Amino acid sequence: MSFLEISHLEKSFGPLRVVKDFNLSVEKGEFVSLLGPSGCGKTTVLRMVAGFETPDTGSIHIEGKDVVRLGPNARKIGMVFQAYALFPNLTVSQNVAFGLKVAGVGKAETADRVREMLSLIGLPDLGDRYPFQMSGGQQQRVALARALAVRPRVLLLDEPLSALDAKIRVSLRSQIREIQQRLGITTIFVTHDQEEALSMSDRIVVMNGGIAEQVGTPFDIYNKPTTKFVANFVGTLN
Ligand code: ADP
Repeated sequence: MSFLEISHLEKSFGPLRVVKDFNLSVEKGEFVSLLGPSGCGKTTVLRMVAGFETPDTGSIHIEGKDVVRLGPNARKIGMVFQAYALFPNLTVSQNVAFGLKVAGVGKAETADRVREMLSLIGLPDLGDRYPFQMSGGQQQRVALARALAVRPRVLLLDEPLSALDAKIRVSLRSQIREIQQRLGITTIFVTHDQEEALSMSDRIVVMNGGIAEQVGTPFDIYNKPTTKFVANFVGTLN
């Protein structure tokens, strides 16, 4: 069994079948993107892995253990959302420390961990700032630091770049990837942006209407699409 194993996942909202027999194996340290148009079920898959949604059927194993019945905290997962998810009334350091406080980590260790995380994201001196005093790109790096501070087993990124300017978006792609590789943290990244998925991932899952159309390396997805949908969707690079 892989580090993260998703099997036969199904989810409907009322009559709408949003995720259909979704299967995915992710190895430890792998960076896998869920790529597809808006509404194809990417976020719903991610939210089921995080524990914010319960699947109708199927299993999600992390390190061999089915987590479907575990709450979000017990899963030891870190998540970064699209934007504006920092606590506006807390400083950068307090934001990064938030999950540690909840987990009951002591003061000295929390201070160490916050320092380590701020240096990891390249903002060692900005701990006393408030979110509104920082650029969007810096705020997303802080959100990443906050997610990583608790040393999660899996990192889930839900369109973390889509609210940012094009220039910042491109530089943040490589920064996120560098941090992910340095920590060797298993990551699932949701995006509708082909370039992001192609440039950042070890593997890509192209989704369409709640199903995985194709799973493969960026090279294979780009050069050997197995369905017309994948060819069209990935072929529309600007
Ligand atoms: P994506 O991330 O690919 O844009 P989502 O997983 O967010 O897609 O949504 C897939 C579909 O499920 C959409 O049609 C969306 O409107 C619907 N959906 C998502 N969450 C809910 C919900 N809590 N209640 C009802 N419908 C939902």
